[in-house]
Amino acid sequence: MLIDTYGRVATDLRVSLTDRCNLRCTYCMPEEGLQWLAKPDLLTDDEIVRMVRIAVTRLGVTDVRFTGGEPLLRPGLTGIVERCAALDPRPRMSLTTNGIGLSRTADALRAAGLDRVNVSLDTLRPDVFRTLTRRDRHADVLAGLAAASAAGLDPLKVNTVLMRGVNDDEAPDLLRWAVDHGYELRFIEQMPLDAQHGWQRGDMVTADEILAALRTRFHLTPEGDSIRGSAPAERWLVDGGPARVGVIGSVTRPFCRACDRTRLTADGQVRNCLFAREESDLRGPLRSGASDEEIAELWRAAMRGKKAGSGLDDPAFLQPDRPMSAIGG
Ligand code: SAM
Ligand code: SF4
Repeated sequence: MLIDTYGRVATDLRVSLTDRCNLRCTYCMPEEGLQWLAKPDLLTDDEIVRMVRIAVTRLGVTDVRFTGGEPLLRPGLTGIVERCAALDPRPRMSLTTNGIGLSRTADALRAAGLDRVNVSLDTLRPDVFRTLTRRDRHADVLAGLAAASAAGLDPLKVNTVLMRGVNDDEAPDLLRWAVDHGYELRFIEQMPLDAQHGWQRGDMVTADEILAALRTRFHLTPEGDSIRGSAPAERWLVDGGPARVGVIGSVTRPFCRACDRTRLTADGQVRNCLFAREESDLRGPLRSGASDEEIAELWRAAMRGKKAGSGLDDPAFLQPDRPMSAIGG
């Protein structure tokens, strides 16, 4: 098991397949992009499958999410999914994507064994999309969502970040649209993980504000007994259900005490937290002949060092050196 000194057990692995992206969301990357990882530094498809195998067979990982950067830019994605689906025990597999290209790949990904998809979409307005992502691809994202839904990749979740003065007036419209299409919408508070270090706490649209905006048009009731366990999203039934909406208050309502995540970057570093300032290199040992058990033990050691919380409320908080796009969101 991957267990830390606070007794938390990590069963959910986030694998970043690339740090590259075809969008430039303002809360994530600068307009000019970033210095991308060099190809030889990236784990190969074989190395990724081996790492996932170690995680599910030796470390108790049950859920694997492929992310990035933009994971659909990874040429071997479908093959990686297919090989991971053949593992015993078979992990549940999901993908977080901006949706561009999903209209071409959704069926193949489903056939390869992908279980679920989260598509990120922050606005229903093409002009706002252009401002937020600096690219004119709104229609491609909508087409990707429709294809994922048609391919049976459900429940289909949509991730939305609200930015003050840009799209923060859209929360109820986005929820209406998501409910009408059968998508489960999840709002994510903006986190200080942008490469430009432009995040300001005062600018962030908070979970409370999002809920207040939604309540102007919908009746929200906490789902179940409202114990969210390790799930980062607090979920509400919309107008009595069955439609739901989630709010991930990573900054104002942190879920660190129940965190069950472990992360692998595209260049083979294990991170025990999104906000960690340290990481543990597994690529070096992997390439110098370490056995599966040696890799597993290094991974266990990396997770034992997990801190109690993100440190976001500490006045001395420092952003990690890696931006979200290179960690794997
Ligand atoms: N490119 C894919 C996408 O956009 O879905 C996968 C990677 S992206 C880093 C994963 C998620 O992180 C997206 O839903 C994105 O909106 C979110 N994200 C990126 N930067 C963020 C930030 N600074 N605060 C909160 N969420 C962020
Ligand atoms: Fe790309 Fe996702 Fe970052 Fe937007 S949030 S720039 S789509 S990695």
